[in-house]
Amino acid sequence: MRPEALNSLFVEVDALDGVGPKLRRPLEKLGLTRLRDLAYHLPDRFVERRAVENLDDAGVGENIIVALTVREHRAPAGRGPFRVIAEDVAGNVCTLTYFGRASYTARKLLPVGETRWIAGRLDQYGQMLQIVHPEHVAESGSALHGHLCEAVYPLSEGLTQGRVSGLVQQALKVLPEMPEWIEPGLLAKMKWPVWREALLEAHKGVNGPARDRLAYDELLANALALMLVRESNRAQSGTPLAGDGSLRAKLRLPFELTGAQKRSIAEIEGDVAQKSPMLRLLQGDVGSGKTVVALSSMLIAVEAGAQAALLAPTEILARQHHETLSRMAQGTGVEIALLTGRDKGKARESILMGLIDGSIDIVVGTHAIFQDTVSYKNLALVVIDEQHRFGVGQRLMLARKGRRTPHTLAMTATPIPRTLTLAQYGEMEVSRLDELPPGRQAIDTRVVSVERMEDVVGAIARHLETGQQAYWVCPMVRESESDDLAAAEARYAALKERFGEDIVLVHGQLKPEAKDAAMERFSGGEAKVLVATTVIEVGVDVPNATLMVIEQAERFGLAQLHQLRGRVGRGSEKSTCLLLRGQQLSETARQRLALMRETQDGFRLAEEDLELRGGGELLGTRQSGDTPFRLATLEQIQKLLPLAHDDARLLIERDGGLSGPRGEAARLLLYLFERDWGVQLLRGG
Ligand code: ADP
Ligand code: MG
Repeated sequence: MRPEALNSLFVEVDALDGVGPKLRRPLEKLGLTRLRDLAYHLPDRFVERRAVENLDDAGVGENIIVALTVREHRAPAGRGPFRVIAEDVAGNVCTLTYFGRASYTARKLLPVGETRWIAGRLDQYGQMLQIVHPEHVAESGSALHGHLCEAVYPLSEGLTQGRVSGLVQQALKVLPEMPEWIEPGLLAKMKWPVWREALLEAHKGVNGPARDRLAYDELLANALALMLVRESNRAQSGTPLAGDGSLRAKLRLPFELTGAQKRSIAEIEGDVAQKSPMLRLLQGDVGSGKTVVALSSMLIAVEAGAQAALLAPTEILARQHHETLSRMAQGTGVEIALLTGRDKGKARESILMGLIDGSIDIVVGTHAIFQDTVSYKNLALVVIDEQHRFGVGQRLMLARKGRRTPHTLAMTATPIPRTLTLAQYGEMEVSRLDELPPGRQAIDTRVVSVERMEDVVGAIARHLETGQQAYWVCPMVRESESDDLAAAEARYAALKERFGEDIVLVHGQLKPEAKDAAMERFSGGEAKVLVATTVIEVGVDVPNATLMVIEQAERFGLAQLHQLRGRVGRGSEKSTCLLLRGQQLSETARQRLALMRETQDGFRLAEEDLELRGGGELLGTRQSGDTPFRLATLEQIQKLLPLAHDDARLLIERDGGLSGPRGEAARLLLYLFERDWGVQLLRGG
């Protein structure tokens, strides 16, 4: 149950003046459903306006406040905008332009013959001065004085600045006082305001202690919740697994394990021998050999007489894993089954039986392996591939499956910097595969200007003639998913024109079956080119695909580019990655692409990307999914996360956890940031 002190913050936005069903949707799109969300909806930037006597004093493009007298209303002929023709004191004519419904309000606010004060951006349209959708219209100049400097909020379609800021103001009016959850010494040292003041302040400026404090709150909530997971995990009882090595000895691998693989397996073996369940993350770049580590871990469980499961994010990956594992484990006598949502009828039942009677040792599958209808004789280890697709909530759900909590090994290929590892997986121990298997060929990476598109297409043609395949990754048009799709479809059509039917398109809005079918055509070699938005399945393995083109590469994060590039370079042939760049490139963008050319070490790329972005222009434009945070920027994460982590640890280990006055406050914090699974665990455990 959420503490009462927070009730007013969790009131639905409908309760506010002026919010009806029509506004709900655009608000929801921004994640604004409760007053809390509005209070935390912080401005991106601020506009500075200048009050001018007349338009001769103002420059085109400038944000101004000016008095204008309305001369005429011009209703549109057909679908054009509604225009209000107005004049300043010097007789300069300026048109106020309104599109769509806004014209109704305009008629009312701007009666012919009256003088009004207008705030907006002065533009030029042909010879005509105009202001499109003035942001404010008032009867007196003093009414606009408060708008000389004004917050600019992130919007979605159907919302205006005025609307959003009005709603935000309403939410801020009812902010309760909160007890302090930050350690007093830290609060004083950082000169941070108390929570309520910080929120009020944060709507008046984009930098400074108020913003830092709010970000810190978020980081602390996260660190605390993860720490609670860890604590509660320690209190659970799992099955101590002592493998005798007999099955692992039967593995006939065509290679020597790398040092990093041996070390990771030893770490895992140490963990699973304990009574408290393992929570370990195996971090390893694409191609670093995580699969064999997963298999060895699962064999430990089987040697100890228990079962293991491997959970993959998609069916196609589950199938690939099943194949690889079965091949590797040939000769061990271990029974490995595949279970996906697609299995129905007899086949499914016989797998379910095998899991119950223990004749199946290892099961590989999608979420289907954890449905309520699936029972295990003795499931003792769960391996989760591509961890980042699963939130902590899901991780917990898995952990609750058996009578005893299974050991969990999560695997991720996303190279994230150390600070972010802490933020995202703070509850886990980490093993890193920081050494690639020997004999890997470097991927020849080149940065090519988009002006040379024709050459690139020609290069693909030559490439296909050799019988090899290629990926084409479409640009990320960050603004909206449908734009991404449009860009991908256009590229697909163009390439199809050139290369015929041997091309498939994969994007996020395809039905899973259609996506799988397309992927299968490509991995089976039937399709020669795979055109994709960024959704190329993590882990897809088509060794014959040895060329990758990435459009507008400068728009991607380095970690993302690195992951994409990891799809090639998997076979014996030399692979190439062409990074297409726009004509205009900032210095940082140039450096980032140069770095891609220079190194294939994912961890190095991740660290340096953080550096570059931390210092550079990309800071503001966060990519969704970059971090698990809404408020904290990368810079703040770097600066504040270690503090939050230590603070959380002290609270739990020294200051009595969530009991005691500061603990009570911290509990509020967890609910405030909806990390309340931390609290629930504590109760359950
Ligand atoms: P990941 O899942 O980490 O991306 P995989 O487990 O798929 O990587 O391994 C990539 C490739 O490297 C596979 O073909 C695998 O057989 C091979 N491999 C794994 N470990 C070694 C090793 N120690 N030496 C040589 N090749 C290896
Ligand atoms: Mg893998």
